Order: sequence, then structure tokens, then C-alpha cells
Amino acid sequence: MLLAELLVRQARLQPDRAAIFHGTQSYANYWQWAARSAGLAKRLTEAGLSPGDRVLLYLNNHPRYLEILWAAWWAGLVVVPVNAKLHPREVEWIIENAEPGWGFVSQDLLQAPLAGLKHQVEVESALMDELLTPLPNPLTWPLEARQPEDTAWLFYTSGTTGRPKGVMITQRNLLTMGMSYFVNVDQIHPDDAMVYAAPMSHGAGLYAIPHLMAGARHLVPTSGGVDPDELMALGRALGPMTTFAAPTIVKRLVDHALHHGLTPQQSAQIWKTIVYGGAPMYLADIQRALQVMGPRFVQIYGQGESPMTITAMSRDLLNDTAHPSYLHRLASVGLAQAPVQLQVVDDAGLPLPNGQIGEVLVKGDSVMAGYWRNPQATAAAVRGGWLWTGDVGCLDDEGFLTLKDRSKDLLISGGSNIYPREVEEVLLTARGVAQAAVVGAPHPEWGEEVVAFVVAQEDYRPSVAELDAHCLEHIARFKRPKRYLFVKDLPKNNYGKVLKTVLRQSLGAQDSH
Ligand code: AMP
Repeated sequence: MLLAELLVRQARLQPDRAAIFHGTQSYANYWQWAARSAGLAKRLTEAGLSPGDRVLLYLNNHPRYLEILWAAWWAGLVVVPVNAKLHPREVEWIIENAEPGWGFVSQDLLQAPLAGLKHQVEVESALMDELLTPLPNPLTWPLEARQPEDTAWLFYTSGTTGRPKGVMITQRNLLTMGMSYFVNVDQIHPDDAMVYAAPMSHGAGLYAIPHLMAGARHLVPTSGGVDPDELMALGRALGPMTTFAAPTIVKRLVDHALHHGLTPQQSAQIWKTIVYGGAPMYLADIQRALQVMGPRFVQIYGQGESPMTITAMSRDLLNDTAHPSYLHRLASVGLAQAPVQLQVVDDAGLPLPNGQIGEVLVKGDSVMAGYWRNPQATAAAVRGGWLWTGDVGCLDDEGFLTLKDRSKDLLISGGSNIYPREVEEVLLTARGVAQAAVVGAPHPEWGEEVVAFVVAQEDYRPSVAELDAHCLEHIARFKRPKRYLFVKDLPKNNYGKVLKTVLRQSLGAQDSH
């Protein structure tokens, strides 16, 4: 099946069923969604766009996001979803690279029209209304033929270093991702509701696919983002809901539940499932989340190049507290998702025995077709069908993968490899530590030395001696930080990932305590 057919199927099967909500307001049933998407598909085709042409989405989360995605796929086009938090200049670079003729934008993101776009349409404009005028019978408007290997989603990597690369994600990749959700993440019933709190340009938006496969409801908060009060109200009105959240967002939801004194049963009325991933979830944080909100979490590990689909840790595994390896499993990212194979290899690409740390490789139908117009980068990333993820980890005998770090974050001090993640995990269990990030600072003698950035909890600020003693108790002496820098917050990118490059740059500009 093609992505566009998923919508046609629901429009045929359950035309009157509520499909999209904007806040608590019903926005479209399945027939209306299909009718508007078919209308836009028709007008884009009539405007001269052909299958394979790109269209840009530089939008805040909006119900029309879904209509535009499916219109583009209906017309055989490739969507280029851009994070709304990017600077217009960064977006212009993407336009130069992807060459979309048309772009759909949110006015408040722009001061001037984007350079390089022939047609720029504001998402709430009269022109957009016109373009989305429903066709009386969407089922009569033909779907453009597409092959499974045709690109559907051209996603620019978040690029914490260097220029972002366009990741070509195909129809097959996305359908595989959607089906894998049912096997590895969760069941979806037509009464369920996916809420798009995280950016729809990323994983959260991709989860529209399995929810469309199931004919479920799609909720777009009016704030377009993560407002825990709004989400609570939305969940009480239309929930329980499912969402995808980075660990930093999970933390906010947990704090909010605590603040409101919600029991796990009350959280269950708001949230069916919270899928987390996209960045490391620390052991202490997931334990707290499970305790406060109950068994509603599932973890996934993926990357732009194999979206949402490398490993998963199911709800059952996350709650199997009696298992002798529970804590080890909890600290892992789970098991390979059904459609992929996993390997951990050495620098030469040779598989390592279980327990040994190396680069994580993944192969399967979720792996990208390559980088857009960048065969060199593609050849470096995908070799013999195996995607080199740049993540470093190890497998255990049962198949659980534990990530240690990104390979480039690996720190080498006095010839010994140190995985910052391990040190961060320990610091986070020390009294008074709210957040911690560990980086390497150049050192004349050791090559690098371990430096910890620490955000103290509001009510207690630990001393350096306490942190040092705590580390000595839990990890090898050579791994403990040689310097502690207390900061108010950690710099994070749009997806909530800590920007270690920024931390490294700031070294020397801070006072040690
Ligand atoms: P992106 O391509 O921007 O989605 O970033 C993907 C990267 O985020 C992966 O290569 C991992 O380094 C990291 N990541 C994703 N999911 C997880 C997870 N569940 N645990 C730890 N790191 C993760």
C-alpha cells in the first residue's frame, strides 16, 4: 500500500468518524480530511508539480500539517518537513539544497519571504483555504503512482555540527515504520488519540502513519506544542492519549503530574501511552516516571536515517520489575524492532562478541535510501546495506542494546575510553543534581580530562567534595570529573538534545567551583 492509500482507505471505511481535532474542537472527519487533501493534491498537480517534486513545510504544529502531508503524497510529491524552530536562514539553505517549488509556512516564523521559493503559502491564509477546498468526492481523484523505493519524506538531520544532510526516506521506510509500531510499540484502537505535542516535522509527525493505519484520532494542541496544562485538559476531554516525547519533555510531564498530585490512575485517564526516545533517558528519570505516572511508557530508539525504527523497549519489559536483570534492561534501549537486524562492530566492521562496545549498525526496510544529492556521505553511512549509526553501544546475550554514547562524544583520557553517559548516569543519582552533562576538555598530559556541567536542584546544591565522593563510590577513579561547572541550565537543540559542542566551546569561559 502507498502512504496516500492509507487515507483513502479510512475515508471509504469510516467517512464520518472524527479524524482531526484542533484542541478540543473537532476539525475534520475522515471524509473531510480526504476531500481537502485530494483538493490540494489536484491543485498542486494542476499548478505543474509532478511526482518526485519537493514541497517544503515550515510550520508550527497545525491540523493542516496532516492535510498537506497527505495531499503531497496523493500527488506523488516529496515532503520536506523543517523544524519550526530553525532560523529562516537555515531554512533557506535547505531550500537551496532540496529545491522545493512550493512551501507552506506559518507567518509568525518569518519576517520576509523565504529566498528560493517560487510559491510560499501561509497556512492560515485565504489562499490556503482555497487550495484546500474539498473535492465533492475525493475517491474519484487519482493517486499518483509511486514505487515503494520512491522518496516520500526528505528529512534534514538536526546537524549539531556542520550543514544538515537531506535523508531520503521512502514510502517503504515509512510503511515499515508504521507497521513496526504495532509489533514493537503498542496496539492502536480506532478510539485512541495521538496528540502532536512534539514537532510534527519529526518523529511525532511520523506517528500519524500508524494512527492513520488504525483509523484513530489525531489531536493537535492549540498551543502547537508542549503545554502540560493544556495537555492535561485535552487528555481529560478526549483522552486517554498517546504521544511521542523526548526525555526532557517526559520530565516536564512527570513534574507536572507530581505538582498536581495526580495518582498513576489519574495519569492513566489522561495518557494511554507515552513513547519516549530521541535522546538518552537516564535510569533515575525513567524510574521516577514509572513511579509517578504508572505503566504507560514505551521506549524507542531510532534516528533520521532509520526513523523511529531501530530498537524498542515494550511497556511489559519496562514494568517487569521482578526480572533479575531489570535495572540493566531499563538502562538499555531494548531489543531490535522486528523489521531490522542489529550488529555491534569494531572499527573494521567486524561483529564484536556480546558485551563488547562498538558502533551500532542496523539493516532493514526502515533504513534510508541515502542522503539527497550526496553519494559520498551515503557511501560512508550505508555499506552493504548496513547503516552505520554513529552510536556506540553493546548487545547482551538476550539481545538488549545498551547505548554508551555517540561515537564522536567518546572521551579519551590517558588512553582510556570514557563514555560520558556512564558518568552522567552516576551524577544524576547524587543528591541535589537535577541535570548533568559530561564532556572532554583538552588536557596537555591526558589528552582530555573529564568535565561535568551540573544543574543543581532548587532546594539543594551539592558541594564538589560530595559529588566527587559520590563518583568515587560508583565508578572507576579515572572516569570521575576533574572539574565541576555549575550552570543554570544546559543548552539544548530544538529536539531537547544537550548540545555538547556548545558546552565544549564554553569551557574556560566559566568559573570552576
Ligand atoms: P536524530 O537523527 O536527530 O533523530 O537523532 C538520532 C540520535 O538520537 C540517535 O542516533 C541516538 O544517538 C539518539 N537517540 C535516539 N533515540 C534514543 C534513545 N532511545 N536513547 C538514547 N539515544 C537515542
